[in-house]
Amino acid sequence: MADLRRTSVQELLRSTDLDRDVLVRGWVRTRRGNKYVQFIALNDGSGFNSIQVVANAEQFPEEKLKADGVENGAAVQVRGRLVASQGKGQAVEIQAEEITVYGTADPAAYPLQKKGHTLEFLRDIAHLRPRTNTFGAVLRIRHAMAFAIHDYFNRHGFYYVHTPIITGSDAEGAGQMFRVTTLPDQNPPLMEDKSGVDYKQDFFGKQTNLTVSGQLEAEVAALALGKVYTFGPTFRAENSNTARHLAEFWMVEPEMAFYDLQDNMDLAEDFLRSLVRYALEHCPEDLQFLNDQYDKELLSRLRFVVDNDFQRLTYTEAVDILKSAKQKFEFPVDWGTDLQSEHERYLVEKHFRKPVILTNYPKDIKAFYMKLDEDGRTVRAMDVLFPGIGEIIGGSQREEDLEKLRRRMAEMHVPEHELWWYLELRKYGTAPHAGFGLGFERLLLFVTGMANIRDVIPFPRYPKSAEF
Ligand code: ATP
Ligand code: MN
Repeated sequence: MADLRRTSVQELLRSTDLDRDVLVRGWVRTRRGNKYVQFIALNDGSGFNSIQVVANAEQFPEEKLKADGVENGAAVQVRGRLVASQGKGQAVEIQAEEITVYGTADPAAYPLQKKGHTLEFLRDIAHLRPRTNTFGAVLRIRHAMAFAIHDYFNRHGFYYVHTPIITGSDAEGAGQMFRVTTLPDQNPPLMEDKSGVDYKQDFFGKQTNLTVSGQLEAEVAALALGKVYTFGPTFRAENSNTARHLAEFWMVEPEMAFYDLQDNMDLAEDFLRSLVRYALEHCPEDLQFLNDQYDKELLSRLRFVVDNDFQRLTYTEAVDILKSAKQKFEFPVDWGTDLQSEHERYLVEKHFRKPVILTNYPKDIKAFYMKLDEDGRTVRAMDVLFPGIGEIIGGSQREEDLEKLRRRMAEMHVPEHELWWYLELRKYGTAPHAGFGLGFERLLLFVTGMANIRDVIPFPRYPKSAEF
């Protein structure tokens, strides 16, 4: 008996090999019952469903279970027999023979009670919320999506490159940055003329920041390895207290040599569809729970995306549609201004009722590296817009012409000396290339149906919040 090996709850729930001794370890989700028998729902995180442990009162009177701390939240080991369940709702259960408590959770103090908690409340106990049904489901889906991303790229001949987290440029063109420094807070070294802090004396001998995007370095790799992607954390110090922005989020950024905007759109569409299909195939129990609990349309929305093409149109065509829309918008629509999320959502949710790819935006509202169109007014940008989310992907064909790129940098006040290496890519063996950035948590918002981006990452970072 001593060498009985531990089995995961999921393995046991799928097992057809009954009437044998088993050993499981996990956390008590609930304990209920009467004076003859007690039922313990045991979950070890291996999957959505808990296994039912049946504890006979002769051996395990309720008073003894209570005294031992076999309560909601306790960590326990159960040894017993796996048998066909007498009750409804599960095929198998464990007839307990021995219950060992690793750690109790005082029922009077344990913050996770049986009653449902609000997502806001759970955010304040981010160290315990992974033990809830909701966050267990979200975190397993998050894992599945990360795996599916690597799997997709690996199957399609992309190489995974690690781009730096600390960057020496503050001109990546994607948002406000967080400074990285080891200089002292009190009396940092000043420049000779006292005009400011002397970063030459800082750790890296220059100002450094946390990256807002791995794209520029991914371009380096694409112009050598052909098709590459990065998948790592990115940081934006924008004061964006919205349900769709984090200060620290994960971004997936493929970059491909010899791809134009069309190829880029084809990839983005196939990529997103296959990720959603993967979730439907591999996370049915977690998705069904989220569908039933939070969003009755979730599964049908996911299937819709898998089965339908995205609508492609230009920014200019979108502006025309928005201008003639009957709906009143808070922000005006004018050619040349960025679309607000109300506009994006109108196009996706009301007008086309499907995912939309908008292309060829005015150059003045997009980054310096996007390839200029022949008309000189727009660039080869693409944004993928999703129902309930708005922008999920931003991408473009990149400017591969050295002179045009330098002109765009000058116009947008991007200092050439910081990006000398980026410019050299256009000097030596330049080639057409394209890529995009998918916000991993935006993808998870869509796949899980959660409403707030703070609930699809284990430890959210947002203004005034870096606890845990
Ligand atoms: P938005 O207009 O929504 O702020 P953006 O134009 O700043 O997005 P990009 O710079 O193109 O976004 O970044 C690529 C992708 O990264 C976006 O399409 C989005 O999915 C995601 N993303 C951008 N900013 C954030 C953020 N603060 N938190 C989470 N995801 C983000
Ligand atoms: Mn932004």
